[in-house]
Amino acid sequence: MHFRMSIGGEDVPAASGQTFDVTNPATGEVVADVAKGGPEDVDRAARAAQTAFTDGRWAGMSATDRGRALLDRHAETRPATEADYKRLNGVLAEKWPRFWYRLDFDVSELPSLLRVSYKSPLWEELGRRCLSCGSCTNVCPTCYCFNVQDEVDFALSLGKRTRVWDSCQLDEFATVAGGHNFRPARAARQRHRFLRKGQYQADAYGLLGCVGCGRCGQACLAKINPVDTFNALYHERVDARHAARNSLT
Ligand code: SF4
Ligand code: SF4
Repeated sequence: MHFRMSIGGEDVPAASGQTFDVTNPATGEVVADVAKGGPEDVDRAARAAQTAFTDGRWAGMSATDRGRALLDRHAETRPATEADYKRLNGVLAEKWPRFWYRLDFDVSELPSLLRVSYKSPLWEELGRRCLSCGSCTNVCPTCYCFNVQDEVDFALSLGKRTRVWDSCQLDEFATVAGGHNFRPARAARQRHRFLRKGQYQADAYGLLGCVGCGRCGQACLAKINPVDTFNALYHERVDARHAARNSLT
């Protein structure tokens, strides 16, 4: 397959005539060559965008019509065939056994598991291991907490308000007016983090707050991660259920 650039509504090669290969990461096979854009192409594209914007052709269209125009021109789709489904199932069958690191229970049970795990001793253990560095939340794609800082100059006539990233794992995150910190313990902050990912957001929006990317586990020097945490809570409940059953027999 050969791909050129789309500039000003036309498919064009790079001004330099250069291309680069795109390879299939699984096999290393070259699947396409693509026009290699350079500074001259960027200038052409910026000029074309400016023209389309000022003459109203693009700026005057609704977002839906713009999307439709792009898809009509560039999308190459067709209905899936039996062979496509067979191939997809084959890939999934190959893939799953290789992903050994996963939850030991169905993820739909996570909110209710966390709801009954509020008093788990695991939070204290995680609190002892956690360094309170905030790396986990910094790398998390679903964490968005921020702080607002005000700075006023000495004459009290000018000031600056800045929004900065914050982390629920830092010790002053929950400090409010009067200096009161309502979540000073690391154990409570760890619990808050995991309940927010697996329960609070599910309760509020019907979606988990964790996409399972694993970035926080990679960034954590204390080797704390969601899969191990949720599995530990699950096994704690299973063990408690067995112990309760055994005490009745
Ligand atoms: S695994 Fe979940 S909690 Fe960790 S960084 Fe990814 S989305 Fe955030
Ligand atoms: S990255 Fe690890 S050690 Fe740092 S705050 Fe998060 S859980 Fe604690």
